[in-house]
Amino acid sequence: MKINILTIFPEMFAPVKMSMLGRAAENGILELDITDIRDYTTDRHNRVDDTPYGGGAGMVMQVQPVMDAYAAKGYGGRVIYMSPRGRILSEELARSLAEENEITILCGHYEGIDQRVLDRLGAEEVSIGDYVLTGGELPAMVLIDTVARFIDGVLSGEESVSNESIYSGLLEYPQYSKPREYDGDEVPEILLSGNHGEIDLWRWEQSLKLTKERRPDLFEKYLAGEPELSKKEKAILDKYR
Ligand code: SAM
Repeated sequence: MKINILTIFPEMFAPVKMSMLGRAAENGILELDITDIRDYTTDRHNRVDDTPYGGGAGMVMQVQPVMDAYAAKGYGGRVIYMSPRGRILSEELARSLAEENEITILCGHYEGIDQRVLDRLGAEEVSIGDYVLTGGELPAMVLIDTVARFIDGVLSGEESVSNESIYSGLLEYPQYSKPREYDGDEVPEILLSGNHGEIDLWRWEQSLKLTKERRPDLFEKYLAGEPELSKKEKAILDKYR
């Protein structure tokens, strides 16, 4: 998958070249093409923003540098504008973007980008939550990371997105690693038993409990989905209904 990014702060994208996403790029699964919009401005002072028509506070990113950068790089695919006005990023949206061969992300700054860019490119506005950040770069990285985890080959063999919090329908159970005892705190005995059936059941109960406590909305949705359960699981669920 090719992800194009139009930004005035290309250097902010260092994190997406590391860790799992860096590996995906090395393996040719994910290609990130980052363009500095400022390289395409025709303004002799190198400016990419100006005051809003109609008055008001702040500056607006101008149409010329963004459109010229987009055209010069031959960008295509679905165009996503990171914006607090947008549809909230979700599993469904991330999965649908992961099926694309190419997407282009616009990162705004100041008061945002001239509306004519969004109209011309048919941009879909996507928000990462009901709060406002200074620029679209951090939201773009959140989107890229979320989408990349749904692309085949990005996660290693044994990992699966569908076992994780939210995507499985429940929040994940607590995890433990070595040592077995830390300053008097012991790892739950069941995890050392080697009985995988009982371990799975314990983990599932922990997931149910956490979800009911922290996300009653998810818990109700899980029940409404009428999950297929074993006798033992049904008995556990009855305790939490
Ligand atoms: N004036 C805009 C408004 O009220 O909708 C907010 C502009 S914000 C200060 C600057 C840029 O940050 C936006 O153009 C957008 O690209 C990005 N941004 C801020 N909050 C965001 C969010 N919750 N989700 C996605 N992008 C966001």
